[in-house]
Amino acid sequence: MRIESRRRPAVALVLWMLAGWAGCATFDRGKSLVPSKPSARTGPFVIYSNTGATGEAPAVRCLEALERDAGRELGFRPSANQSPVEIYVLDSREDFDHFLRFYYPELPTRRAFFIAMGSQRLVYTYASPRLDEDLRHEATHAMLHGAFGEMPLWLDEGLAEYFETDRSDPGAERKRLELIAEDLARGWKPDLARLEAMADIKQMTQRDYRESWSWVRMMLRGPEEGRTILMEYLGEPERAGARIAPRLAAARLDERALVAYLDGLRKPGGLAEKPAPAVTPASGSVRLQDSPEPPHRRTIRGFFHRIGSWIGL
Ligand SMILES: [Zn+2]
Repeated sequence: MRIESRRRPAVALVLWMLAGWAGCATFDRGKSLVPSKPSARTGPFVIYSNTGATGEAPAVRCLEALERDAGRELGFRPSANQSPVEIYVLDSREDFDHFLRFYYPELPTRRAFFIAMGSQRLVYTYASPRLDEDLRHEATHAMLHGAFGEMPLWLDEGLAEYFETDRSDPGAERKRLELIAEDLARGWKPDLARLEAMADIKQMTQRDYRESWSWVRMMLRGPEEGRTILMEYLGEPERAGARIAPRLAAARLDERALVAYLDGLRKPGGLAEKPAPAVTPASGSVRLQDSPEPPHRRTIRGFFHRIGSWIGL
């Protein structure tokens, strides 16, 4: 999920108010509800956590792995000219809910979100069993936003879905492939033109997320032409209105090819394919920005996109 906003709320003031918010039933005096001091930094990320993340902490390791994966597959390199992505890991779901009620009282429950305010990129989440997945997904949105600016909704989410998976675990994509096989057995057919026409995240179903992941998976790990087309597309300064489907179809990477590619992945050994070839950034830094998710997170994304449209972004 991502939020775009030109609003610049007084974050420091809000954090100060939260830190001193004694009316909260579970607030522990002496400890900030929202961590106020950085506890670790890795690559383009600064982590704020009350528990004091260390270099060995899982959150740090998964962000390091994400940066490595994005570097290898998209040529991502952190830019020295950009502010780091600020990642706030609250102590618990309870603390996170308090934060949301205070700062975004209108929003439904969720586990994590990314918000962009001008050049500032912020990720909010809390310590949970799915912290790695949530961090990778939201941090991918943040990187993509910094690296490539605005991009089509389906591609933004497809890349976040792709990179939320630990790329070093070949079996991590099995569950998603099983769900796609069920989609196909029920008569579903991929349609990239339909995905490309989506401008509001509330239009996207979980199956649309799986399809977005599928196209990204084929472009990055399938025939080499797909990666070339994707990288050229991402590198174009003006992508508004530009469609990638015709370019892929011209390279015979159409819906029929996608179904055949997914069938191949499901076969024994299909996920143990060749490693992704390394990408060298064309020039300087390449700028990069949520996994199968529970339905409530889809709702949240839709909500934020509505917020984006309300404020004219
Ligand atoms: Zn997302």
